[in-house]
Amino acid sequence: MSVARQTRYKSVSDLEQAGLLPGACSHDYADLGARYAIGVNSQVVGTIADPVCPLQDPVGRQYLPSPEELQRAPEELRDPTGDEAHSPVTGIVHRYPDRVLLKISNICAVYCRYCFRREMVGPGQETLTDADLEKALAYIEATPAIWEVILTGGDPLVLSARRLESILDRLNRIAHVQVVRIHSRVPVADPQRITKTLCSVLKTSAKPLYVVIHINHPQEITESVVEALRELRASGCSLLSQSVLLKGVNDDARVLDSLFRALIGLHVKPYYLHHPDLAPGTGHFRVDIETGRAIMRALQGRLSGICLPRYVLDIPGGFGKVPIEHCYAAVQEDGDYLVEDIDGRVHAYPPRVRAGDG
Ligand SMILES: *Cc1c(COP(=O)(O)O)cnc(C)c1O
Ligand code: SF4
Repeated sequence: MSVARQTRYKSVSDLEQAGLLPGACSHDYADLGARYAIGVNSQVVGTIADPVCPLQDPVGRQYLPSPEELQRAPEELRDPTGDEAHSPVTGIVHRYPDRVLLKISNICAVYCRYCFRREMVGPGQETLTDADLEKALAYIEATPAIWEVILTGGDPLVLSARRLESILDRLNRIAHVQVVRIHSRVPVADPQRITKTLCSVLKTSAKPLYVVIHINHPQEITESVVEALRELRASGCSLLSQSVLLKGVNDDARVLDSLFRALIGLHVKPYYLHHPDLAPGTGHFRVDIETGRAIMRALQGRLSGICLPRYVLDIPGGFGKVPIEHCYAAVQEDGDYLVEDIDGRVHAYPPRVRAGDG
């Protein structure tokens, strides 16, 4: 694989100089760079199909800052998923009994404008110290209910291979941890980081290793992404994907249809379609739940079942994720069900027996 160096853009002025904010006025962005991390690289720039209006492009929109981010709505929350309420020690979020998040990095390869952790990620944010990591691993060791450890961040795959290896090594030695999962944007947004060295480290996991890639649009799939996914699979990882439903990016059944089919074609099982979280300054990305449901209904039954992710909402306040898809079955007063088919026709369950039948 080519290890071409990425050009990185880390500020409004870097982006302006590269012509990625055409028509922008620096003062529109005055406080933005200081408020939220900016991170774009040549990999993602190469997938922007509309150079004239990159902010309207489904990839450009995900990464290029917009003055709309300075608009705040009252319902927006600093910690929209309520992780802090479930953090017994620094770096751990333990909200569900059998699994924890282990946030091993506060930095990312790129910065997504709609990020639900945008207040916590980026250069200058507090990082997990060696002492914190030690305490977090000790918590996992001391908690037998933890069946699965989910490495997240920031992005866990920006850590050095050596650091990742030492974490996997510790997890290998905890008998009650049966599964390790990694949530990462790197295979899609910075695939050159999926090096032979990194893959040789992933191979050292004694537990099944699931890598959940974050991808929102078929345009993000390049030859280097395909190659990175192939390498991950060759290292024994099982691949899943998560996407965020975003206005102007993928709020269209045709776009998601082609994304999910393409992913299955690359041996990646679509896992979650997230309803966007109430992160500050992300109102321009937000769609309503009815729109999300209508999109999922359009896909249900027309798209192979293996292509379909679950459409989930992380309930604000730390109450966890639940599926919010349309419910096809309604209970009747008599305790029977009325069940809708994919064309909207309603059927009784159990089927009503007419007089004379049988
Ligand atoms: C999303 C999430 C998980 C993982 O949930 P799954 O439904 O198993 O994918 C675990 N812990 C927290 C705090 C989460 O937000
Ligand atoms: S890679 Fe993940 S954590 Fe990092 S900015 Fe994007 S959504 Fe946020």
